[in-house]
Amino acid sequence: MKMALCSAALAALSFVSLAAAEPDRTPASDITDPKDPKFLTAQTRKQGGVMPAEQLALDFRHLDLSTKVFPDEKRIESVAVLTFGTSARLSELVLDLFPKFTIHRIEINGRAVPPAQYSNPEGQLRIKLPRAVDAGATIKARIVYSGTPPLAKRPPWEGGTTWLKTPDGKSPWIDTSLWGGGCDLLIPCIDHPTRKAAIVDEHYTVPTGLMAPGNGAFVGKSEKNGWTTWNWHARSVHTYGPVLDVGPYKVFEGEYRSRFGNSIPMRLYYLPGEEDKAAELFREFPQTLDFWESRIGPYPWADQKMGVIRVPYSGLENQTLVGHSNDFPKTPQGFDWLMNHEFSHEWFGNQMSVSNYDDLWLHEGLGSYAQPLLGEYLGGTIDYMSLLKAQRAIIRNEQPLVTGEERSEKAVYADKTGPRGDIYPKGSWIAHTLRQLIGDDAFFKSIRILVYGRPDPLPGNFQPQFGTTQGYLKIVNDVTGKDYKWFFDAYFYRAPLPKLLSTREGGLLKLRWEVPDNLPFAMPVDIRIDGRVVTLPMSDGTGEIPAGAHAAITLDPASKILMQSDAIDRFRAWEAAQPKKQ
Ligand SMILES: [Zn+2]
Repeated sequence: MKMALCSAALAALSFVSLAAAEPDRTPASDITDPKDPKFLTAQTRKQGGVMPAEQLALDFRHLDLSTKVFPDEKRIESVAVLTFGTSARLSELVLDLFPKFTIHRIEINGRAVPPAQYSNPEGQLRIKLPRAVDAGATIKARIVYSGTPPLAKRPPWEGGTTWLKTPDGKSPWIDTSLWGGGCDLLIPCIDHPTRKAAIVDEHYTVPTGLMAPGNGAFVGKSEKNGWTTWNWHARSVHTYGPVLDVGPYKVFEGEYRSRFGNSIPMRLYYLPGEEDKAAELFREFPQTLDFWESRIGPYPWADQKMGVIRVPYSGLENQTLVGHSNDFPKTPQGFDWLMNHEFSHEWFGNQMSVSNYDDLWLHEGLGSYAQPLLGEYLGGTIDYMSLLKAQRAIIRNEQPLVTGEERSEKAVYADKTGPRGDIYPKGSWIAHTLRQLIGDDAFFKSIRILVYGRPDPLPGNFQPQFGTTQGYLKIVNDVTGKDYKWFFDAYFYRAPLPKLLSTREGGLLKLRWEVPDNLPFAMPVDIRIDGRVVTLPMSDGTGEIPAGAHAAITLDPASKILMQSDAIDRFRAWEAAQPKKQ
């Protein structure tokens, strides 16, 4: 998402940049003037959460979207054809759509629906079906609409459309980012992660001379009367993944020969005048794919493309067309961390999608762990550890990462009652800790099963998956033959971190885990005593070992465990007391 989302990854870049990188997560719905072009109704701002019964009964098989873009008027004209299967009797079709769009015509299975039979006062479009349909039916809805989509308040964290000129001032440059609002900012849809369309066709018509890259594979363009239509074919596009980008883009093209024997088209869409920076980024594509395919598994969208597009904000994981700004500085680790983060979502977000935003750490935490992993792959232990340490310093521990309830994106990502930015670094650190606990073989096998639904993925032998925290616990238990409920309970469902208490009594070093609600916590602890490393099993949460009064002791010397740290607490308190940067 995003990194879009990724303030936290941004902050991980350096401690110093933290304050500047913290996003303003004020929800766009806080804009209360309906005339404000950034105003969103609560229904439009909502992304995920509880669905009405009419939507639960639908599966989204196909979206065919034709959109004509008028840059000077900041307006679109669209025809969306949506095909659904039904699993219950329905008399109404209930969709989500930004209510300021003007709806010109709706047809259901080829029959026009009179305007009196549909309404969209707040962003939930209710269409009375010409006749009720039974379970097992197909509903094909054709919706013709136009208007100005909501302006993005603070992309990519608060999404919408952004109308700009290119940096040279010569050309229109338009971007949409759907995180923080969802697909209904642009398209009639069901804005819930489980209701992504299985197949998506996009036809973007823009003034000739401009390009409109889209999701999936390019399937040709046509020109007529000064307009060019760009056609794209994709599958399983996340609800926040469709992208409408328009500009005078140029393209770097290449083919990646995969270790799995297939070939992956690589595309980088950049703006005129930015060739040098773009070329530098494009040179990283093969090594990024090397890392991902060797460490995790096959690139899931090899039949389409690895795509990156220049956008006006940090980045967003639009499927097969990752949004990326090329303004980022070099890092000591030597790779573009933002591209790696966004690209991670092709696995953690697009191939494996959460079915409830409550589990969003599966996208952002694993997606953030990918940067230390890439550092380890390219530069070794020092890059792995330095990236992890930066992430450790921004964990807040104010709210649990997961509740077990159906939650909307806003409840998790933006509201103070949710974990917000912690899903990035804390999720990453939990993954690191789990890896140290169960070992590389079991950890990466569990990740492959989570992502691909099988431990032996090869191009063509897997389907998109939905992931949950509890489902991942089951995978970890199956892979290891042990029960790690205690690990998940303590790290995901409680906010405070486990605390390792140590005392010296009568020639003994005594250790005890202190965990909220006295939960069991059987985390083994390494101890270095006068240069010798010993592992205490801590099966009942306690352990002891002989240690003289002057013994030199380091707890957890290889930094395997996410736990409370006085040093980090002092650092965060000091940081919070510093004057705010303007
Ligand atoms: Zn992200």
